[in-house]
Amino acid sequence: MTYQAILTVFAATNLLGVTNLSAKQLEGDIGEAEEVTEEYRALLIAVLILWLLRKRNTRLEDINAVNLAILELADELEQVAIEELPVAFGMGSGEATPGIGEVIELGGLAASNQAFLDGSFAPYMLAELAPTLNPSATIGSIAVDRQSAWENRVGLYAGAFWTAVWVGLGVELVNRLRANTQAVRRLLDPAAAHCTTCPPKAREYGSWNEMLAFTGGLPADGSDDCHSNCRCQIEIFDKGEWISSGF
Ligand SMILES: [Zn+2]
Repeated sequence: MTYQAILTVFAATNLLGVTNLSAKQLEGDIGEAEEVTEEYRALLIAVLILWLLRKRNTRLEDINAVNLAILELADELEQVAIEELPVAFGMGSGEATPGIGEVIELGGLAASNQAFLDGSFAPYMLAELAPTLNPSATIGSIAVDRQSAWENRVGLYAGAFWTAVWVGLGVELVNRLRANTQAVRRLLDPAAAHCTTCPPKAREYGSWNEMLAFTGGLPADGSDDCHSNCRCQIEIFDKGEWISSGF
């Protein structure tokens, strides 16, 4: 064990010594990751709105055209993820250029995002745009009442961006062989309404791996009742201070 590692363990032990499970749950400030996640959500919704403008005259009774339109939308949302998830990952890891381990993790994130789009979003939109008795119904006429529900639904996929930040942070800790030694903490978003599963997880842990063993997953990856809406954050204790990334 290096001198630096011993210091880190010592600092972590001290921190844990003053922490107990019944202590007040930890809250974090709204950070850069949250702002960028909101930008990502806005980007996803912009893709939906542009799609609506192009497809508004598609008639629901033209089932093939509706199917194709939904596939097109899922594809465009997936393209946004492919372009933007590496940005989230880099925010967490502090590394601009991903290595092989990072590329594999990113591939997994993109694949689960695509599984959500194909397995959940596309069937949802198919049900929303099922043929009606009204022969003149179009995607645009249904959108008059349903657009805001669709925007909310598309916005849920911003959770993938949030998770990618923390996956990046975890990979960096593993790369530096600190996943078992460096203290971390999980924080609630002070502005969010909390689900039941997140608050007990908002505390300090002796290490990344200890945290994962306790929490069973990362914020917004589906491991909590708030699912992709989770805005809990993770910080690591490095060189005497708590930081969320770029150590
Ligand atoms: Zn949460």
